[in-house]
Amino acid sequence: MKTYGYAALAADKPLAPFSFDRRALRANDVAIEILYCGVCHSDLHTARNDWSWTNYPIVVGHEIVGRVIEVGPDVTRHKVGDHVAVGTMVDSCQNCDQCHKGEEQLCREGNTQTFCGVDRITGEPTMGGYAKHIVVREEFVLRVPKGLALAKAGPLLCAGATTYSPLRNWNVGPGSRVGVIGMGGLGHMAIKLAAALGASVTVLSRSPSKEADAKELGADAFLLSSDEKAMVQAGSAFDLIIDTVPTKHDLTPYLPLLDVDGTLCVVGQVGPLDELNSLPLLLGRRRVAGSAIAGIAQTQEMLDFCARKNVLPEVEMIGIDQINEAYERLLRSDVRYRFVIDMASLTQPHVDAA
Ligand code: NAP
Ligand code: ZN
Repeated sequence: MKTYGYAALAADKPLAPFSFDRRALRANDVAIEILYCGVCHSDLHTARNDWSWTNYPIVVGHEIVGRVIEVGPDVTRHKVGDHVAVGTMVDSCQNCDQCHKGEEQLCREGNTQTFCGVDRITGEPTMGGYAKHIVVREEFVLRVPKGLALAKAGPLLCAGATTYSPLRNWNVGPGSRVGVIGMGGLGHMAIKLAAALGASVTVLSRSPSKEADAKELGADAFLLSSDEKAMVQAGSAFDLIIDTVPTKHDLTPYLPLLDVDGTLCVVGQVGPLDELNSLPLLLGRRRVAGSAIAGIAQTQEMLDFCARKNVLPEVEMIGIDQINEAYERLLRSDVRYRFVIDMASLTQPHVDAA
């Protein structure tokens, strides 16, 4: 299938219009016309090769919402016209113990990422959602529940799933005390989801200007991470801290904030952190953990939960021609709190008759 979108052509070049092929529909594939795509910090990390694994050209984007336009003959879960969503994974082995448990993100063979992955059958590079169409096997296509606003649902697929998963896996509910480090795309969803699960939520931020928004989004308290006195006073205050900071940083100042047996779960930085001081871990039997995205069943559970509880991200809608400016603003944390690309703004690139 011929399609088009915006691609990064090199780490130091702006994203630009790009035409490419999606694979022909397999028997268990769903073809989707993309209506909206959220802008995750991982898109930016990948476009700029921050993780040193990007192959160019690359179309990024893994917070995809769209409409089914065609299905293969074996597809049973989705039909033409359905509103559907695709997150950060498009395939896995489907055979290992983790896949059988619905934890495809932990597939023993490695899951296939929506972009920067390799198609398990053809070996072609996978391309993400800053595009008009995508083709995905049906097991990795999620249902957008009725009542969930399509234009806002995109960020749930990554920012929502990535923060919902540790909240559920650490059994957060009424009575839980949750801290959220970094109030950006992931962080603001962590606040909303933890509050909707009944927890008391504190935002740990370096930006005093975000305090009013934090409270409006459902946080009970706001702690300025540069305020050393307030940080000491908040000792042992949390059962779970979700850390969404996207760069190398020091966890040590946050560890004493955990209560005995509490866990700090890193979901932001992918790669090295500053040297860890084990003392607060030993003294409080505290833990540092990590978590990546969520399995398909848990992602669907999260979408259904958000529809039921009316939990939606705060979004700023942009045209795809504004994507490079949006990346610069994302780097400055100048977004409240997730950009979403309206794919109606995407036009077919002009092809010169050579
Ligand atoms: P984002 O919208 O840019 O938000 C990050 C927030 O972290 C900022 O708003 C800021 O909040 C804080 N922050 C930024 N730079 C900082 C610094 N140098 N020091 C301290 N705090 C800083 O990013 P995002 O889309 O939420 O993504 C966050 C990270 O999660 C990215 O690295 C992304 O790749 C990763 N990610 C991981 C997964 C996973 O599966 N684990 C999934 C998706 C994304 P304050 O101003 O409030 O401090
Ligand atoms: Zn993401």
